[in-house]
Amino acid sequence: MNRPTDRYRELAARYGTPLYVYDLDLVDEGHRALADAVPEGIELYYAFKANPHPGVARALREGAGGGARPCRAEISSPGELDSALAAGYTAAECLYTGPGKTASELEYAIGRGVRIFSVESYTDLQHVGAAALRLGAVARCLLRVNSAGTKAATTGIRMMGKPSQFGIDSETLPELMPLLTSVPGTEVVGAHFFTMSNAVDEAGLVGEFERTVISAVQLAEEVGLPLELLDIGGGFSSPYAVPGERAEYPKLASELERILDLHLPEWRAGTPRLAVESGRYLVGGSGFLVSGVVNVKDSRGNRFVILDAGINTLGGLSGLGRLLPAAVQLDGAEPEQRASLVGPLCTPGDSLGRDVQLPELAPGDVVVVPNVGAYGVSASLLGFLSRPAPVEVLVRGGEVVSATRLELVRTAAAEAAQAAQAAGAAGAAAR
Ligand SMILES: *Cc1c(COP(=O)(O)O)cnc(C)c1O
Repeated sequence: MNRPTDRYRELAARYGTPLYVYDLDLVDEGHRALADAVPEGIELYYAFKANPHPGVARALREGAGGGARPCRAEISSPGELDSALAAGYTAAECLYTGPGKTASELEYAIGRGVRIFSVESYTDLQHVGAAALRLGAVARCLLRVNSAGTKAATTGIRMMGKPSQFGIDSETLPELMPLLTSVPGTEVVGAHFFTMSNAVDEAGLVGEFERTVISAVQLAEEVGLPLELLDIGGGFSSPYAVPGERAEYPKLASELERILDLHLPEWRAGTPRLAVESGRYLVGGSGFLVSGVVNVKDSRGNRFVILDAGINTLGGLSGLGRLLPAAVQLDGAEPEQRASLVGPLCTPGDSLGRDVQLPELAPGDVVVVPNVGAYGVSASLLGFLSRPAPVEVLVRGGEVVSATRLELVRTAAAEAAQAAQAAGAAGAAAR
């Protein structure tokens, strides 16, 4: 792919570095790719933790200029909910997830109209119910299931099937089901599976979805798991902070149709409604980190290229608890030397890559890290060393459409009781 580096140099001169550039045309491309990879009738949820920028999220809701069905929002905090609402998502389009939902965030979400929650334990469901009752609402809940005894796909990060803070162990459902379906303030309407992330191998992904569907159908038949909405998760893969293209899944759509026709023959009529989720596949390819070279230093035979972007700007938490394997590679870099790529922070941990192929570089040069539209700013140590957050520029059709910067500000803390009251009042106002 031809990427105009002059363009980045120009943006760097205009806004300073470090700088994130998100190309909304490439967001549309990721959106279309996911929409095409799964059957038409399956809803798409955008995982806000990948990149909560409202401009990026808005593009996904607007449906690739009419070329793809709109995404819904998978959110997991009041801040992500605020981003979703700011991006034009309605509360009804939000699915609220997470293993540690607090009373105050639940009241905040329900107060703003969110009604669909993924719950990760009986206690979590009780917490959702209690918050809903306080606000006179009924929360429609998906039971997140931690399936037992399925065989792992060959690639990616496995999240389920072993002890986990995520999901309800499937083997406990026969005993728990009567309790789960009688929590005041809640109605269990479906199930949520999210078993893996970043599956490069198509056969592995298909196998995982098949096991998920079989497991859901079994639980529906054997323990009465309601299946109005079945979220079968994701695992769609995209490169992170190195050049490359997102994975292709040419057979996935037809394979999923085969699996669903076999196990859930009414699915085309919307029984159940089906959903998949993704962060990185939708937006990973849309983002570029433009960073300035501050210094080039030789030490005992090793070269260090010191950038103005470190782990405060590219934290490397590429999702799901996995740390960056310290292996950033630059876009369009002619290999002329090998050096360590490090940031400006006062810690040896501020490394973006050891022994990286780099062009000749000097202070004042600009470098570009590709494929950081997901898990870039949102997965960075923004507060560490108290440096400013990077500017985030949105580009559409080659033109800048917005340039903003997150700011951490210290404010006086409200006392908890006051905060709870404010949340309650917000809830009452929203009703
Ligand atoms: C993080 C997360 C996602 C997105 O993961 P990607 O690998 O970015 O697609 C989707 N669903 C849930 C429940 C998650 O926690």
